Amino acid sequence: MFEEQSKDMVRSLLRTFTEKGLFSSKKEALEKLKDPAWIKEKGYGHIGSILNSDMAIRECNQFFDELDSRLLKRLTSGIHEFKSKEFLSQKELFERLAKKQTPDALFITCSDSRIVPNLITQTDPGELFIIRNAGNIIPPSDAKASGEGASIEFALKHLNIRDIIVCGHSACGAMEAIVHPEALHDLPMMADWLQYASGTKKIIEKEYANASDEEKIDFAVQENVLVQIENLRTHHSVAEALSDGRLNLHGWVYDIRTGEVLVYYPELEQFLPIGNKPKSPRQERNTVSM
Ligand SMILES: [Zn+2]
Repeated sequence: MFEEQSKDMVRSLLRTFTEKGLFSSKKEALEKLKDPAWIKEKGYGHIGSILNSDMAIRECNQFFDELDSRLLKRLTSGIHEFKSKEFLSQKELFERLAKKQTPDALFITCSDSRIVPNLITQTDPGELFIIRNAGNIIPPSDAKASGEGASIEFALKHLNIRDIIVCGHSACGAMEAIVHPEALHDLPMMADWLQYASGTKKIIEKEYANASDEEKIDFAVQENVLVQIENLRTHHSVAEALSDGRLNLHGWVYDIRTGEVLVYYPELEQFLPIGNKPKSPRQERNTVSM
């Protein structure tokens, strides 16, 4: 009985520690459980002997193995379900897509797991050509070779895309890092990447110096969409399509909490909920609102 209770307690602690991000791997967890000083520091010194016992080590191994296999099982069953339901119900669409893609728009958004472009726009596979990265950033054309530049060129020259949407989102980690650069202390690659959003940082420092941190992040999300649209314009394929009048650029912000999308209206110089088009829009050439 005591053995079972101890096991339950170890399991529950492992769950708590994992949720709190105290372990990033099984290896790290095992090292820490064997370290009486760490256990004491976390306030579990009184049961330290249980936590660094052979039983706790065995439970820890099993706990992480189960965690790994649970994710794999979930993904595997998802794939089976997709194949047997969604895929079958849209068989004709996938057969058509197998031959060719003819997307309607290039959708540039953040890598954030909470943004699902096809879900929020209720579009089907094949309708959106998507570029994703941290902060929905578009390096300007003079940047070192970039995947973004290659995808933009392909979308415009081979897929004849006529609309590009740059979609930022609320609570964006990349924008939080622009407001709080100290968060980048252990992310040198991210710090380097965010140089392409240095324009956003300058605007926030200059125009929103007195805003609260929360407001600064919200403004950074919006301003960054506009900064990235300017970066987009530096690409030859974009400039060419704009001057030929065969391309429209759109700036959007998706709010995770409400599901609302704000659209930038250049004639009003502000973001408004989608569908709230101004009455007599004086649309600027090549930049329209949807
Ligand atoms: Zn983001």
